Amino acid sequence: RRCLNRIKKTQHLNAYISVTEELALKQAEEAESRLLQGAPRGPLDGIPFAVKDNFCTRNIRTTCASRMLRDYAPPYNATVVQKLLDQGAVLVGKTNMDEFAMGSGSTDGVFGPVRNPWSYAAPYREHTGAATAADSEWVITGGSSGGSAAAVASLTSYLALGSDTGGSTRNPGALCGVVALKPTYGLLSRHGLIPLVNSMDVPGILTRSVCDAAMVLGILQGLDIRDSTTIPAPAPLTELPEDLDVKNLFIGIPKEYHAPGLSEETVAQWSYVADMFERAGARVEQVSLPHTQYSIVCYHVLCCAEVASNMARFDGLEYGHRSDVDSSTEAMYASTRHEGFNDVVRGRILSGNYFLLKQNYQHYFVKAQKVRRLIADDFKRVFGSGVDLLLTPTTLTDAARYSDFTQEDNRTRSAQEDVFTQPVNVAGLPAVSLPTALSRRGLPIGLQLIGPALQDKKLLSAAQWIE
Ligand code: GLN
Repeated sequence: RRCLNRIKKTQHLNAYISVTEELALKQAEEAESRLLQGAPRGPLDGIPFAVKDNFCTRNIRTTCASRMLRDYAPPYNATVVQKLLDQGAVLVGKTNMDEFAMGSGSTDGVFGPVRNPWSYAAPYREHTGAATAADSEWVITGGSSGGSAAAVASLTSYLALGSDTGGSTRNPGALCGVVALKPTYGLLSRHGLIPLVNSMDVPGILTRSVCDAAMVLGILQGLDIRDSTTIPAPAPLTELPEDLDVKNLFIGIPKEYHAPGLSEETVAQWSYVADMFERAGARVEQVSLPHTQYSIVCYHVLCCAEVASNMARFDGLEYGHRSDVDSSTEAMYASTRHEGFNDVVRGRILSGNYFLLKQNYQHYFVKAQKVRRLIADDFKRVFGSGVDLLLTPTTLTDAARYSDFTQEDNRTRSAQEDVFTQPVNVAGLPAVSLPTALSRRGLPIGLQLIGPALQDKKLLSAAQWIE
């Protein structure tokens, strides 16, 4: 009830697309009676959670923040949602996002932008000198899982699911000051997650602490017969070791991550935490991931190509929006898609189909696949040489003002924004972003740890040590 009340109090954030109040109250009552009988289902029984609106939820609309799916209510639950419900966790609502998870700001959905709760917190207000964050002053949450990050940051849910294809969980996690985990590709089922880039998508976990993220990962991980890309969990994950021996850790600092646009404050935080590791006895050294610079372009070719195929299902026939234009089947398709998708989605469909044309396929798609391999091999080489984990920033700067973010060409900005997060998806590795400081503007700064495939537990143990 407290979470539902807070959702009402924080409506100005626009974090939720749907609030499932009735269902939540019913679930909470059931959980309460289990607790009173001394028979809880597990640690999550009765715990409120929120879900990004691109995970299917049975009989609850799942919009992807798009006009195309505005009234779509799926007949089944995504596996990760079902697993949380089976534990007795209580769904409070579906969260706002960029349309079809394309973006880095949560500014591009049909339900309007998400506001970062830190816009209204004392440190930022003091910085701006405004008693309340004046309308022109509020800052973005980052994205595309901005609603989920804002939900956890504004205390309307204890955990939230996001999706992470190029950084969409870690980016808003960093800008909203919460823990954001992108697990190893395949560790969590994508069944029921409406796809963006199938070969990179993973469900992401947003929580207030690292140990909460570990607990949720332990519950969600593992093979799913409905997703052929899932892999068995390497080990059950319940508790993280409290006494990690940092002296045995080798932390790599990738030199290519000193990217243009990186704020001084973020660099200072990055060195501060690197020094912390060093002082505690860890080996900390600069390493090189030479193909990092090609990652954004590589990601975009592959992303658009997969988007072009994925979006073909939205034709106005089986489900979703259907245009009134009925002069011919083709005309109906065309205007349905024109009316249903925003210009970012349409732009990617067009680019993807261009990259996949017979005469372009080798030059763009096949080449991008090769570059993808080189990027993944960079990480393999570094981890093969003894490095346990990489420490990097999550974003270039703290959260931008909405008015600044939307002024620039959004797509270019969005592309730059993911420079530290995208290579991780291209390589399928686990990474976690955690808040480590507030900037001079009073906004959170996040750092990222990246690990080798399936070393999610080691990753979280080191993150907990920083925390
Ligand atoms: N910003 C990237 C994009 O727009 C990543 C999105 C994501 O991770 N879902 O594609």
